[in-house]
Amino acid sequence: MRATPLAGPTSIRPCSFTPSPLPCSADVVIVGAGIIGLSIAWRALEVGKSVTIIDPRPASGASFVAGGMLGATAEVTFAEAGRVDRLRTARAEWDPFLDDLSRDQGRALPYVSINTVVAGVHRSDQLEIDHLVKFQRSLNLRVEQLGRNELDALTPGLGRAIRQGFLLCDDAAVDNRLILQTLLDVIQRRDASMVIDVVEHLERRDGQFVITTSSGVITCEHAVIATGAAPALNSSISLPHIHPVAGVILRLKARPSTLQITTTIRAIVNGRSCYLVPRSQGELVLGATSVERGYDLAVKAGEVHQLLDDARVVFPSIDEYEIIDAEVGLRPTTLDHHPIVEDLGEGLIVALGHYRNGFLLAPSTARRVIELLQKP
Ligand SMILES: Cc1cc2nc3c(=O)[nH]c(=O)nc-3n(C[C@H](O)[C@H](O)[C@H](O)COP(=O)(O)OP(=O)(O)OC[C@H]3O[C@@H](n4cnc5c(N)ncnc54)[C@H](O)[C@@H]3O)c2cc1C
Repeated sequence: MRATPLAGPTSIRPCSFTPSPLPCSADVVIVGAGIIGLSIAWRALEVGKSVTIIDPRPASGASFVAGGMLGATAEVTFAEAGRVDRLRTARAEWDPFLDDLSRDQGRALPYVSINTVVAGVHRSDQLEIDHLVKFQRSLNLRVEQLGRNELDALTPGLGRAIRQGFLLCDDAAVDNRLILQTLLDVIQRRDASMVIDVVEHLERRDGQFVITTSSGVITCEHAVIATGAAPALNSSISLPHIHPVAGVILRLKARPSTLQITTTIRAIVNGRSCYLVPRSQGELVLGATSVERGYDLAVKAGEVHQLLDDARVVFPSIDEYEIIDAEVGLRPTTLDHHPIVEDLGEGLIVALGHYRNGFLLAPSTARRVIELLQKP
């Protein structure tokens, strides 16, 4: 049975997949089918492992909500300087990841934008950006200054208050939902089992992992935990603490003859960040708030108001756009905001806490997990 997508614009349909019964065993069981679990599943199948993925709602968590930006430069803030090489490497891994995925799917998967404009609206916003750009350049990140004419050539329709900006030459973006759907397609074509269920318990017994779901038990040589911001699984081995950071994000669609964007725009408006990321067919993603409020998935009017207020100063034509989607996603976060990708012992691998950068980091996390799976 293939899950039936709802009618409506392509980009807001849930991803589709074919559910499988729970097998008795697999080489690798992956708990969680977000961008992290699915990327790992695909790469594990490529190296010849039998793979079962378990998730009650595949591709519906933070990964379905995300902006899809690969912000290897934008994410280098003063606090993140120590991670600059990690982010740069992660960005470089996207070209081969997309090429391989396109080849496997038999269809070219494009970036939705291949660079990013950063601009501040008020004088204090511009000063904040100048300060950060100076720092990013000192780390040899490629950032070019743009005057208003150059901005107009690249992103027509920016608000009048924006006088100058910068081009982050290496920050691209992908359509997160297209990537998730493609991963679901290719891994199912390679005979992975996609089990629609919740993992209730995990333990090590007689030299293997025993994973209990609400419908049965599966054993495996390696278990990979990629459960995003969900509370830690009930397990005989202690798992890292992850907490959620909520973000509201909107999807909008241009009306006929409305100005469209083709470059990602990251802006600061009165000290608040917002971004507009292009999608196909005149759609764009507007994000995002960042609030620590547990697992509350309510889309609050005040947050939507804030995003739209800021966005219309940056790109006034957004007033004519149709709102097609408003959602909250939970960014999975560790105490120091750095992801944890490691073998906790005897083949229990965690790939957790990718916070604001799960898309950017997915290819490199998947590569790292495959290295761990192949360790003798
Ligand atoms: C508003 C917003 C914007 C973002 N924008 C960007 C961006 O532009 N670029 C970027 O790189 N990152 C971005 N991120 C961050 C990125 O979305 C996350 O880091 C990434 O999606 C995390 O992926 P994941 O696979 O770990 O988690 P998820 O996508 O949340 O997937 C986890 C899965 O685990 C499943 N699960 C949980 N518990 C169990 C269980 N017990 N049994 C079975 N399954 C279980 C869930 O059902 C879920 O499907 C954004 C996040 C948000 C919220």
